[in-house]
Amino acid sequence: MPNKGTPLGPLRILLVEDSAEDAELLCDQVLDAGLEAGFERVDNEEAMRALLARWTPDIVLSDLSMPGFSGYQALRILRELHPLVPFIFVSGTMGEETAVQALHEGANDYIIKHQPARLPSAVARAIREARREMERLRVEDELMRAQRLESLALLAAGLSHDLRNILQPLLIVPDLIRDRSEDPKVVRLADVIAECGRRGHEMVESMLSFVRGSRLPSERIVLHRLFQAVGMLLKSSLPGNVDLHLEVRDDRLAVEGNYTELQQVLLNLALNAIQAMPEGGCLTLLAEREPATGGERLRISVQDQGTGMDEATVARLFSPFFTTKANGTGLGLMSCKRIVESLGGQITVRSRLREGTRFDLLLPLPAAVAPAPRDGAMPVLPAGRGQPILIVDDEATRLSLLGNALASQGYRVRLAADGAAAMRHLQEAGMPEVVLVDSGITLLSAGQLLSEMQAMGYGGPAIVLEEKDNEAFADGLAPSGISVHVLPRPLEMQRVFRAVADALGSH
Ligand code: ADP
Ligand code: MG
Repeated sequence: MPNKGTPLGPLRILLVEDSAEDAELLCDQVLDAGLEAGFERVDNEEAMRALLARWTPDIVLSDLSMPGFSGYQALRILRELHPLVPFIFVSGTMGEETAVQALHEGANDYIIKHQPARLPSAVARAIREARREMERLRVEDELMRAQRLESLALLAAGLSHDLRNILQPLLIVPDLIRDRSEDPKVVRLADVIAECGRRGHEMVESMLSFVRGSRLPSERIVLHRLFQAVGMLLKSSLPGNVDLHLEVRDDRLAVEGNYTELQQVLLNLALNAIQAMPEGGCLTLLAEREPATGGERLRISVQDQGTGMDEATVARLFSPFFTTKANGTGLGLMSCKRIVESLGGQITVRSRLREGTRFDLLLPLPAAVAPAPRDGAMPVLPAGRGQPILIVDDEATRLSLLGNALASQGYRVRLAADGAAAMRHLQEAGMPEVVLVDSGITLLSAGQLLSEMQAMGYGGPAIVLEEKDNEAFADGLAPSGISVHVLPRPLEMQRVFRAVADALGSH
């Protein structure tokens, strides 16, 4: 029955046939079986090329030999122009040997003329198979593209954070140099360094803001739902010789993180596994609890029966751009590792040559551990939990430096370039938990700003940045209800972090 399964819709059928009568017969056989189809007919190379240049058939039915043209030639032309369109030989004289050669040359099927029963079902089957294959290639393409983009974004994010840390001294040290030297040459060199630092900083900022678009919120991910989605996405790119086995040992198992990112991790691992099994085998994804120090954790394992890896490969697995594939990116596993570690987890691998590979993701269960802050720029120091901080400084570089540094510690920063901007922020966004203000700000002095804030109901702490030996702020302008911590300039980030943590801690 040709119409069993998904309906095929109206079909475009190309007949390569010199006999009009035989062509008529083929049309009748197809239409009589209930298939809806339109036909074109050619019987020489020129006509076939001209037609295929402007029209793509769903299938080609071809005679074996015609005067001046052969079915094999037609097949070669089709493969050259439309490699995925199915091709069926229909011949009155097909011996077994010819049939074997036909299949060998890439035909999808062969049929003896005047066997009307088989033609329509062979046509329907070949078209269904071709469409499945096209869909599979499309999805695979899309997955690869998504994986590339995701990896690039992660790479850029990682680089930006590292660069930002490397650049920090370039922004702070010139101040120190200027303070310590009267020599105009040294001061000029300091200016050059500061300018380079500023430019580098700006570049990193724009790279980060570009990448931030891909930073996604955290949520509770139910594993059996995630596995279902992964299974569906994989199904279309799963070769026939690979069996997919998905198992979640407990329906309530969940993990805290970004759904899309975790899905990407599993897809990356699964695609690697599939690519490692050209001969086929079983791909297993399993999620279960397992005991760990201090409670339980979640283990997701992705296991294949593929080629496995030698020790040298395992050692370089997570390095960016390491790949053994002709068209690999070498970014998949690197981005997996980054995502898993951003969730406070780790990724391990065990592999044996010719036996297979197993990747384990070890993740904290939701109640046990909160996800680590993604930036993790200065892990030794106490990190914030999103407390709002208002930073007021009229020196733009210092303002952005402070903002970035405190944001990387997990605080929610609001920046203002002067006293008036600070007041606007307060009216729009409400009070922060701590305010960090430079003593040299304009359009309201630091003292006036704090008094205004107190009048608006602010009772939190203030950190005031002050030029060393400058008593400007000690003139009694600080309101008595606000506890003020003075930090001397030039700035040292570690001291800023500690001052902020102390100020918040004592409140
Ligand atoms: P890519 O897939 O683009 O090569 P990945 O970072 O995903 O980049 O993988 C890096 C390399 O690690 C692969 O090229 C391959 O050599 C190896 N690899 C990854 N997963 C497996 C696996 N399941 N089995 C065997 N080798 C693997
Ligand atoms: Mg990969």
